[in-house]
Amino acid sequence: MHPSGADTVLVRHGDVGVKSRKVQTEMERRLRDNMAAILEDRDIDAEVERRWSRLLVHTDEQSVEEATTAAADTFGVQSASPVVVVSPEQELIEETLADAAQEHYDGGTFAVRARRASKDHPFTSAELERKGGTAVWEAVENPEVDLDDPDITFSVEVRETEAFVFIEKRDGPGGLPLGTQTKLVSLVSGGIDSPVSTWEVMKRGSPVIPVYLELGDYGGADHEARAIETVRKLKKYAPNHDMRVRKVPAGEAMNRLADEVGPARMLSFRRFMYRVAEHIAREESAHGIVTGEAIGQKSSQTARNLGVVSAATTMPIHRPLLTMDKSDIVACARKIDTYTDSTIPAGCNRIAPDYPETNATLEIAQNADPDGIFELAEEAAENVELVEL
Ligand code: ATP
Ligand code: MG
Repeated sequence: MHPSGADTVLVRHGDVGVKSRKVQTEMERRLRDNMAAILEDRDIDAEVERRWSRLLVHTDEQSVEEATTAAADTFGVQSASPVVVVSPEQELIEETLADAAQEHYDGGTFAVRARRASKDHPFTSAELERKGGTAVWEAVENPEVDLDDPDITFSVEVRETEAFVFIEKRDGPGGLPLGTQTKLVSLVSGGIDSPVSTWEVMKRGSPVIPVYLELGDYGGADHEARAIETVRKLKKYAPNHDMRVRKVPAGEAMNRLADEVGPARMLSFRRFMYRVAEHIAREESAHGIVTGEAIGQKSSQTARNLGVVSAATTMPIHRPLLTMDKSDIVACARKIDTYTDSTIPAGCNRIAPDYPETNATLEIAQNADPDGIFELAEEAAENVELVEL
């Protein structure tokens, strides 16, 4: 929602702001470039400018909503507001607030909030709130004020040479600009969890190399489509990064696991999978492995088992969903738009054993591994195929 005449997006960042000046400048540049890439990918005509501790997206009235969405989809962004830009004069600001209220105030309660970043103006923010409030009060019918929990807030942020008037503050993902942390390999099965875990580390600034294990008789075309389609959705948040799916043939390994391993089968599968990921991480100069595992979500993911399987690799394994409930993961999947693709029925054969081991020791897992499973992992990783999105 924006006042008419809004042709600019005011963008605020969060964690970037707690860095030293030098790092912050570097991160803001990255944020600007990433946002520009998303805008371009969506064919939105706009220019991104770094200003003080904010970014401004200059566009036109037709594109301002779409540009706000693009800004709010950029990692590192705290919030984004479509704004009307006026010169920082009190009367002009009051008029703009009154116009916005006439247009958008539809009963309920309101408040006016003002923020003044420069002390060079002849008014304080408290004055601006009071006078702006009066202007709104007089512009609409039956107004009601609630300063604590208003239904609608008319806001103004005053800077040295301009003032920004807005109604909406759209939440961004927060986090850090993509590319400000090291690259990671992410194991993406395309289920509900792994696209969310991938998004979570991207949110913290790590570009991701997606790895999908093609499971032969235990996978299939729909299973693979899920993985690729969810990565395609994630790529929308990172159009300037290489997110081609690294597809690894794991059918043979799956057959051996099904034939040779009993209750600890899923643990051997995980150990195999991490070794594949480790190999690809080395090839791609990535420095960690991401999975969608959560404590106790499946028998292979008991706290005990997670510890045991992790020993298969010396590379750190990152599990952003470790402590999350499924309902929260689902809510996140919906928010980032991977849920629909994740729930395409994959209709594949079940690899999990009927009575899975839930309380393994390293010895149990190692003894269960088929001979040469790690060599098989290396070989599979060597045969990786790049899937264009
Ligand atoms: P998801 O966890 O993505 O919803 P899932 O529940 O079917 O899929 P799990 O058995 O929970 O998969 O697997 C745990 C984690 O192992 C996944 O989150 C993912 O990171 C990884 N994983 C499982 N299967 C594959 C695969 N075929 N390719 C790549 N990664 C996989
Ligand atoms: Mg899962």
